[in-house]
Amino acid sequence: MCGIIGYIGNKTLTPLLITGLKRMEYRGYDSAGLSIFQEGAIKTYKKKGRVADLEAITNEVESTSNVGIAHTRWATHGFPNDINAHPHNTANNTISLVHNGIIENYASIKQKLIQEGYQFISDTDTEVLVVLIERFYNNVNDIENAVRLALNEIRGTFGIALISIYEPDKLIAARRGSPLILGIGEDEYLVASDAAAIIEHTKNVVFLNDDEMAILTKDSFITKTISNVQTNNEIHTLEIELEQIEKGGFEHFMLKEIYEQSTTITDAIRGRLLIDEGNVKLGGLRQVQDKLRNAKRIIITACGTSYNAALVGEYLIEQLAHIPVEVEYASEFRYRSPILYEDDVVFVISQSGETADTLAAVQEAKNRGTTVIGIVNVVGSSIARYTDAGIYIHAGPEIGVASTKAFTSQLTVLTLLALYLGRMKNLSIVEGIKIARELSELPKKVEEILQSTDKIEKIAKEYSSSRNYLYLGRGFNYPVALEGALKLKEISYIHAEGYPAAEMKHGPIALIDENMPVVFIAPKDEIYEKILSNVEEVRARKGKVIAIVTKNDNQMNHLADHVIEISETLPILTPILSVIPLQLLAYFTAKELKRDIDKPRNLAKSVTVE
Ligand code: GLU
Repeated sequence: MCGIIGYIGNKTLTPLLITGLKRMEYRGYDSAGLSIFQEGAIKTYKKKGRVADLEAITNEVESTSNVGIAHTRWATHGFPNDINAHPHNTANNTISLVHNGIIENYASIKQKLIQEGYQFISDTDTEVLVVLIERFYNNVNDIENAVRLALNEIRGTFGIALISIYEPDKLIAARRGSPLILGIGEDEYLVASDAAAIIEHTKNVVFLNDDEMAILTKDSFITKTISNVQTNNEIHTLEIELEQIEKGGFEHFMLKEIYEQSTTITDAIRGRLLIDEGNVKLGGLRQVQDKLRNAKRIIITACGTSYNAALVGEYLIEQLAHIPVEVEYASEFRYRSPILYEDDVVFVISQSGETADTLAAVQEAKNRGTTVIGIVNVVGSSIARYTDAGIYIHAGPEIGVASTKAFTSQLTVLTLLALYLGRMKNLSIVEGIKIARELSELPKKVEEILQSTDKIEKIAKEYSSSRNYLYLGRGFNYPVALEGALKLKEISYIHAEGYPAAEMKHGPIALIDENMPVVFIAPKDEIYEKILSNVEEVRARKGKVIAIVTKNDNQMNHLADHVIEISETLPILTPILSVIPLQLLAYFTAKELKRDIDKPRNLAKSVTVE
């Protein structure tokens, strides 16, 4: 949520900042801006709209020094417009600052500063911070200390980068709750919200910790705590390649990521599945093995798509390992004083590993002394670092705002986890082998779905003018119904609801008429017969039925208006296959409606604000 980049070095500045912003644009895209130096003065260019709009007004702009900062915004405070866009500067352009996060006590600080005679032009919380730094600078005459003193006054979250005319050869960055990575190049340093903006310059990075600041000059970098104790952070080597964050011939990142799924599921399984033993090796859980063995209850907390994955996880773990599981939205968990017992284990799921609500849930659980385990995609992310143990999903960078491959990789990892816990408890080797074998067959079956998408595209077109959609599934496929509805809402802006199929008659059935497409996720499983009755109920009210079914399902062939087939697998594994047609249905619908698929309105990837 919001992308920050700062650079100090020898390269030509403006195009570098613009490219960096473009690579992070999925984090926020309502306005963008940059600040550089021209003849000793700070010059700021900012514009409502996309990074391309900023590029258009900075094309010819040249910097006379090689330090600058830039930002692509996802507004929290104040409309997306030119004035509220970042960077924010002091009235006399002495300091320029970009910020990701929320300053919770901005209103009271602003009031005080106004009383002291300072002026404000924007509606943002961010402007308060830059003015506050100026106020402290006027007392201490040292930019680093002024930043430190200002940060001590504010509550909330921040990832910031700033430049000033006071010390023009310095780039200062700091974080609390919002991610920041330092790129350590040769005679150049970068600071950015994520690795995507850094890797074309250097793969050597330092992950800034909470309450740390970095002071970068052309030939040195230093990290300190905000309270001024020097820190020695390890330099890590990034393992992602530039092509992983490019579209590679696909029209959209989302489509590319949908098509990557047979590979990403393979990557999630690689080196972990012990087929002959019907078991799983999860190195990241070694040090919490006993905790897991003795766990009386598991709580999984997450947001959005990861929450839907967590619901599948609940079904999986309860079925295979007989450990009671509760799933809770991270945003609720953190504020509700959850009751946690000593033998509970908390799992958190987050693609980015930076989701603010999930991170806060980690903190909440850790404060109570509970073991917290992360299921995360981004290596080295905050959640990966703050949890006691973890399992990476290894899906590679996910750029499309609507999550696809991360979801199926999360499901794959949750299946591995359930199998691992099951085998620790009572699950037999025979059962274990059966599941492990079927799991290893899934990438091939995903490939099959992706080879024939024409039918899904046709269905998407036929119903693209619908105002509502209903998604229904039972058992393991109830969370898939939620995920299918979420995908459609996110990128096509068509209203969609997901329900357990049997709940339809307790309310949503009132919505059904000849204009309502109803998607049934109905692979052959123990409750298949039940879902057939639900299909009949929809047909009796003239609803249009689109059914995701197991290959050669003749019964459904006769009942539904459209069927989309997936290969047969174990019922517990069906969500990994059944969600893929739903991702494609959302994609083709959004395409037909000419939506901005990779950057849907009002959304952003990696929700780093509350
Ligand atoms: N709170 C700031 C604003 O609304 C920063 C939001 C962001 O992280 O992009 O401008």
